[in-house]
Amino acid sequence: MTYLQRSATSRRQFLKTSGTMVAMIPVINLLGCSDDSSPTAPQPQETPAQPTPPPQQPPAAAPAQRSPAAGTAMPKLEESDPTARALAYVHDANDVDASQQPRYEDGQRCDNCSLYAADSSDEADWGGCSIFPGKLVNANGWCNAWVRMR
Ligand code: SF4
Repeated sequence: MTYLQRSATSRRQFLKTSGTMVAMIPVINLLGCSDDSSPTAPQPQETPAQPTPPPQQPPAAAPAQRSPAAGTAMPKLEESDPTARALAYVHDANDVDASQQPRYEDGQRCDNCSLYAADSSDEADWGGCSIFPGKLVNANGWCNAWVRMR
């Protein structure tokens, strides 16, 4: 087969294919322009006007848990508690090894941490802490989650 014969064959093939596609255009138009109001066509759903919800507030830190009632103090956090150990909690901030705790600064204590909530029970030197829910931390304590009061 010569180049000219191949070229003629390709042209015939192209024209045949093009003719078929041109013949399909009315069919495609009919399908594309079907009546949207037919019973099978999906209808836009109307939703009743909803009141606009108030803007979302950023989640606040969970309030420190206090004892359920005066005289029913929560248990005291143990320094050996796994979470306490992970945060280097100590009952007395004077025991903090500043060389091991770069976040520690002199004067930081639980009772001047914004996460501390003084307890109203008999445990005057102990209070709640949102880092350790359900446990009391010592007012003189410290951990590396200490947060400055605003
Ligand atoms: Fe104390 Fe604050 Fe640490 Fe709680 S987060 S243990 S109050 S230093």
